[in-house]
Amino acid sequence: MSGVSRRDLFKIAGAGLLIGSSLHTSTACAKPVKTAGRMLPPPKGNRVVIVGGGWAGVTAAKHIKKEMPSADVVLIEKRKIFMSCPISNVWLGGLVDMDFLMHDFHTPASKYGYTFINATVLDIDRSKRRVYTNEGYVDYDYLILAPGIGYNYDAWFKGDKDMARYCATHFPSAFIPGSEHIALKRKVHNFEEGTFVLIVPPPPHRCPPAPYERAAMIAYVFKKNRVKGKLIILDPKKDIKPKGPGFRNAYIELYGGLVEYVPNAKIKEVDPVKKVIRTTAGDFRFDDANLNPPHRAGDLAWKVGLVNPKTGWCDVDPLTLQSKQDPRIFVAGDAASVKGFPKSGDMAHNHTQTMVVKALVALMKGKDPKEAVRAPTNTCYSMVNGDPKEAIVINVIYDIDRKKGAPVKKKVNVENRRSEQLARATFEWARALYRDMFS
Ligand SMILES: Cc1cc2nc3c(=O)[nH]c(=O)nc-3n(C[C@H](O)[C@H](O)[C@H](O)COP(=O)(O)OP(=O)(O)OC[C@H]3O[C@@H](n4cnc5c(N)ncnc54)[C@H](O)[C@@H]3O)c2cc1C
Repeated sequence: MSGVSRRDLFKIAGAGLLIGSSLHTSTACAKPVKTAGRMLPPPKGNRVVIVGGGWAGVTAAKHIKKEMPSADVVLIEKRKIFMSCPISNVWLGGLVDMDFLMHDFHTPASKYGYTFINATVLDIDRSKRRVYTNEGYVDYDYLILAPGIGYNYDAWFKGDKDMARYCATHFPSAFIPGSEHIALKRKVHNFEEGTFVLIVPPPPHRCPPAPYERAAMIAYVFKKNRVKGKLIILDPKKDIKPKGPGFRNAYIELYGGLVEYVPNAKIKEVDPVKKVIRTTAGDFRFDDANLNPPHRAGDLAWKVGLVNPKTGWCDVDPLTLQSKQDPRIFVAGDAASVKGFPKSGDMAHNHTQTMVVKALVALMKGKDPKEAVRAPTNTCYSMVNGDPKEAIVINVIYDIDRKKGAPVKKKVNVENRRSEQLARATFEWARALYRDMFS
């Protein structure tokens, strides 16, 4: 078994990450489900329940407790272990071990004094302010909903669930952490010859540079393994964005002949059985592929009626990230739609601290939540070479426009010249964020 080590497989299976990914299409509103009884005694002060222990949720739990120790904070997460999507492309390229991506939920819960519940949230009764899980229910005063993204296979298969399942099984997207990443790594490292296609999802999708970084890491593996074939990147956009020159130069200078970038390739039809993709830039046959459907807010957000069906994301106040449907609920991370915010781990970590937590804590202290909000930043490194390790970076600094009541971009810095120094900074960035969230 090349590419994926036995230890990696053991970790991910033991971690309970072999949970089916989002094939759901339901947009129906919640009906309370029958589950076991109340899970926790009534709190002494305000109780904040956080649903989803990803980049946004874990950050929220710690920072609420730091800013307001009297708050009763409960984090509910369905996975048994945290696996990071950031750096997973680097792991795909074989440059780090899976240990680098894996973290536990217990250490920060114990250190900062919040309750961690390992359960799946099935429903939320917003009128009762009650969260139903497969283990029982928990009542809240305020809720932070941070369920991440779901895959919108309906955009390709128009409700044909069998085809969606076939596609997800045979050509997993690996934009939601877990078993899919293992499957993709195995495909890439075992590929010997022919055409491998990577579809870039239409914007807005999780981590704008991630498909291009993934392409660079796949090309790196193909080059190392002397693959007789090529990687075709099908992009619905007219150009690579962000860090276009950095990615383009890497594809040409490092992997010339191995990578074919096709712009303006909007998907018309995907046939995973015949292995054909019809696009506005022509038709493509493939031997193997990473088929990435459009993204949208995580399934639970749809289930509880907080998604705008026109956009697929949750409408929120752009300063506090309070849901426009329910002021008791804040939406943090990728599921929220804020103009100018990329759906990245760095942004989820940043806006959760500087906006969501600040606003919520102010609200609980009887202060003006909008006044409490601070401007976030977003930094995103992308590894483009494996030997030597080289990366590029984008950094965006935001400001708060108090008159507009919204964040605005103040400065954008991009470094498209790949370097080993930026590769080292990539690992330092990841370690610093993992440290903040998990230790
Ligand atoms: C390949 C790849 C590379 C990336 N690289 C970078 C990078 O270099 N830098 C960067 O900043 N970002 C990167 N990202 C983006 C980053 O992973 C996301 O933006 C980030 O994870 C968003 O955080 P979140 O909390 O919104 O969602 P997530 O981190 O996905 O967390 C959502 C959590 O909610 C849980 N959940 C969902 N539904 C339920 C339920 N019903 N009950 C209980 N729990 C539930 C899920 O299990 C999950 O743990 C990358 C993404 C990918 C796919």
